[in-house]
Amino acid sequence: MTITTALQNTDDLKKNWSEVQTKLKEIYGLDVYKSWIQNVEAKEIKHNSLTLVVKTRFVRDWIVSHYADKILDFFQKLDKSVTRIQFEIHESFYNEKNNQTNIVDFATGSQIADSKDAGYATNRLDHRLTFSNFVVGESNQLAFSAAKRVSETLGHYNPLFIYGSVGLGKTHILNAIGNELKKTDKKIIYLSAERFMYQFVKSIKNKDTQKFKDVFRNVDVLILDDIQFISGKEVTQEEFFYTFNSLIENQSQVIISCDRSPNDLDRIQDRIKSRLSGGLVVDIQPPDIALRLQILKNRCKTEETYFGKEVLVNDEILVFIANEFKSSIRDMLGVLNRIIASSRIQNKVPTLQDAKLILKDLLNNMQSVITIEDIQKLVVNYYNLPMSDFLSSRRSRHIARPRQVAMYLSKKLTTKSLPDIGRKFTGRDHTTVIHAIKKVEELMAADKKFEYEVQDISNKILKSN
Ligand code: ADP
Ligand code: MG
Repeated sequence: MTITTALQNTDDLKKNWSEVQTKLKEIYGLDVYKSWIQNVEAKEIKHNSLTLVVKTRFVRDWIVSHYADKILDFFQKLDKSVTRIQFEIHESFYNEKNNQTNIVDFATGSQIADSKDAGYATNRLDHRLTFSNFVVGESNQLAFSAAKRVSETLGHYNPLFIYGSVGLGKTHILNAIGNELKKTDKKIIYLSAERFMYQFVKSIKNKDTQKFKDVFRNVDVLILDDIQFISGKEVTQEEFFYTFNSLIENQSQVIISCDRSPNDLDRIQDRIKSRLSGGLVVDIQPPDIALRLQILKNRCKTEETYFGKEVLVNDEILVFIANEFKSSIRDMLGVLNRIIASSRIQNKVPTLQDAKLILKDLLNNMQSVITIEDIQKLVVNYYNLPMSDFLSSRRSRHIARPRQVAMYLSKKLTTKSLPDIGRKFTGRDHTTVIHAIKKVEELMAADKKFEYEVQDISNKILKSN
């Protein structure tokens, strides 16, 4: 093999692997991707075997038992020669990167003799989630102040239990506490309850539960996210309970988030529930419009500091997003990202209409769907026609043209198929619809006034919706 082909092969391998990673992200979601897939590197293909490099044995075991089949599957679609996957563990890489933090980490913690494979590697605090970029409003005020208070005075509320439904900022607040405390010399563990469970089960398997216990019982601060995942699993509940008790007895701070209040945790023993409620229990409510808007504005500002002036999402769009996405801040921010990304790709400042089009599929899943009937009504009004004429079979231009415009807009502003659209126009054929769309596009290209007219109607429809 020449050097060029060797390089070519490495390039292909990298490209294929990154494609497989993207697929895995799509099917398993961002959390799984970040925890298990993102940091895996593809090293080489030899004798039909793909070598992946991971950082700990634990990660390897986890990938083998959960994702290896899919990985091979996806990889074979891109490179048929590969029939096996094998793993190499490179711990040094991981150690180098992380030995400055004082977060207790199974993989680096010196107080743990031999626990390199326990894999906390994937559970680090997200440094971007801080108190300073958390926007406070009525709905999260209590949780915010309590969290701040605890990060200033450990033990002030112990445990601190924060609950609320998904996407309202629990993980953000927990990370903010952790990031604040990271500046001190306190030993902190931050992890999801799910991970806590797996660590524990893993330690049983490896017969080193004592180490597990020591690690958890020797921290100053335990931050446990999404504790609802512990419910129902008896052994882990028991272990959690002991850990929890010994921490509280040692006056270590425990901070917990959950998607519901302690009392609403079913399948959790009562004594644990009452222990959980023993400190301060605060909830985060869905944000009001003012808070939603402020969060969006702040996010735009942050984006601007990173990417410069390209991020020009005007207030009209922000108000629109804030009005449409009420229940989850995560979803709302996701939508903003999508608009920003798309405007970057197209290299233009989005109008409200652009924003609505970008979100067409999302919007169609919600109440405020634009229907063909809406479009017909608006068009009829615009041209001042009786609906009966509009829907009749008459072909005179002053009726046929608006009808074509309505068909064109139905295609553009809804997700309905051509036959569906035809049916709504008194059972016309889909070829009629295609013809209408073509005609309108032609006319728009040839006649500025007409183009403006269609644009105007389209805006009116979007605004009225
Ligand atoms: P949860 O853990 O409750 O499901 P997250 O903490 O993951 O929710 O929040 C979802 C997204 O919304 C995150 O990107 C987070 O940074 C953002 N977010 C939530 N609340 C706020 C807030 N008050 N200010 C700024 N960003 C927020
Ligand atoms: Mg969360």
